[in-house]
Amino acid sequence: MAVMIQRLHKSDLGHSLRSLMENDPAFRPIAYFSMEVGLKESIPTYSGGLGILAGDILKSAADLGVPMAGVTLLYRKGYFEQEFNSDDWQKEKPSQWDPAHELTLLPNRVSVVLQGREIQIGVWVYEIVGSSGYPLPVYFLDTDIEGNHPDDRKLCWYLYGGDNTYRLCQEFILGVGGLRILRDMGYMNIETFHLNEGHAGFLTLDLMREQGYYAPDKIREQVVFTTHTPVPAGFDYFDFGLIQRVFPPDALATIKRMMPDARGVSMVDFGLHYSCYINGVSKKHAEVSNAMFKIDTVDWVTNGVHADTWVSSGMRKLYNKHIPGWDEDPGRLVQALTIPKKDLWTAHQASKLRLFARVLESAGKQLDQDVLTLGFARRAAMYKRAELLFSDVKRFVEVVGDHKIQLIFAGKAHPNDDGGKGVLQRIRKTAKELEDKVTIVFLDNYNMEIAALLTQGVDLWLNTPQRPREASGTSGMKCTMNGIMNFSVLDGWWIEGWIEDVTGWSIGPEPSVADDLGQGYDESRDAVDLYDKLEKKVIPTYYHNHDKWVDMMRHTIALNASFFNTHRVVKEYASKAYSIDFRGM
Ligand SMILES: *Cc1c(COP(=O)(O)O)cnc(C)c1O
Repeated sequence: MAVMIQRLHKSDLGHSLRSLMENDPAFRPIAYFSMEVGLKESIPTYSGGLGILAGDILKSAADLGVPMAGVTLLYRKGYFEQEFNSDDWQKEKPSQWDPAHELTLLPNRVSVVLQGREIQIGVWVYEIVGSSGYPLPVYFLDTDIEGNHPDDRKLCWYLYGGDNTYRLCQEFILGVGGLRILRDMGYMNIETFHLNEGHAGFLTLDLMREQGYYAPDKIREQVVFTTHTPVPAGFDYFDFGLIQRVFPPDALATIKRMMPDARGVSMVDFGLHYSCYINGVSKKHAEVSNAMFKIDTVDWVTNGVHADTWVSSGMRKLYNKHIPGWDEDPGRLVQALTIPKKDLWTAHQASKLRLFARVLESAGKQLDQDVLTLGFARRAAMYKRAELLFSDVKRFVEVVGDHKIQLIFAGKAHPNDDGGKGVLQRIRKTAKELEDKVTIVFLDNYNMEIAALLTQGVDLWLNTPQRPREASGTSGMKCTMNGIMNFSVLDGWWIEGWIEDVTGWSIGPEPSVADDLGQGYDESRDAVDLYDKLEKKVIPTYYHNHDKWVDMMRHTIALNASFFNTHRVVKEYASKAYSIDFRGM
């Protein structure tokens, strides 16, 4: 059934959906499941891009009045707060937050059985209120409930913490517990379950159980799957021995029926085999996924960011003045070329100063507002190659020495990832060694607040992933909302957003089909190109062709921000995957 949607603040509604919703506030045909959701830094239930994307999509859905509900887990200890010891080695502290300050506990309870014990699941709600006043609920599942076994109470404490058994339990709670809680709250007519990555795939088991008989096609009709990882090792895998120890017997039996040839469960398989629509998060990522899964059904919906969340206050004022209606439809940012260059630069420098004030406060370093400032902030995953810039220190110093640039780094390594911690340690040590020639600052505890400061306040955003491993990337999109150019390897979204010398600069060779097959390319070319372009293009443009620099900023807004936003993403999902018709929008 196609659902018709109109803006809810319009007075001339009165068609079917509106009345359905008025009669039954729980009428929401789309449920969006995500292991992590990042709405704001005071709800620390996210680790990185996957969660922020989920939050941004839910916010845009609220703004657009799309009848959706979000489902995730409540992590009482969050991901973690980052600190460093005197040897620059990362240390983790649990995040401190009180769910009762941010969320509302609902009376609903459901249960699941795991490891032979019944576990009660409770639920908290956060209501996103969209720009037109439309409320969109996000449900956080919680097992820290009196009466549950002490071990079970901790099951929803840590995001991406614990061992494989812990993760398996969490994913059962998310998928199966999530569906049961929705039903308990009265969501009887959900038409689409959107799995943001495979973690919630066990949802399909319970849909099967609800149905009472084995009809995989009926499950497929209801499920939409978005994949985010272009490498096989990126998917959670559980062998049947573990599942047998943890799951109730009927759940295991259903899995074996659904995956007759498997010896264990790769969570991506639920999405691949039991959904009616599959997408990657950029065109390149879809191509890589099709090659990796040896199928041709992976479509793409290139990611975006929620404009209002990531735009600085100064830029917002400029957009309000020169591009009225941009917040309701960020597509209108195509008109950015009408913004006077002088005003754009003034707004940018204000954001830059705000960032520098924070750097001074947190890192004790005074940065210079007239120096070209590069930002690099990401999870410290190896494929992101945070150290590429330092791969030839002599050349690096030759290009940028004598303080032609300043650098700000941020990023967390997963607590078990010593490789990532080593990267952070080396960056911090390099910063100290090069102190006399280049100012390099490391901002601790990368989170949404730091991400916003950085993507509003640096001059240029550096991105050097190993191709083709950056499925999309979204931090660079946050920059485009603020007129900040990208300087990036051609991977993920940047292949679609890049116009050389207009929206920024590329690093390394142009994309090729060899990337899709994981055959790699000569990575050393990336570093050589990075130094050459910094020297011959980026630095000269910043210092000697200010007019062109600011014109590129305007083109970044017009050509990138107008497209890489979640309003466009949600509309694409609505038409391709949810069968929703935006009549009247
Ligand atoms: C946006 C964001 C990310 C994702 O950035 P990528 O470019 O996709 O790596 C990660 N962490 C935080 C805190 C963010 O705000």
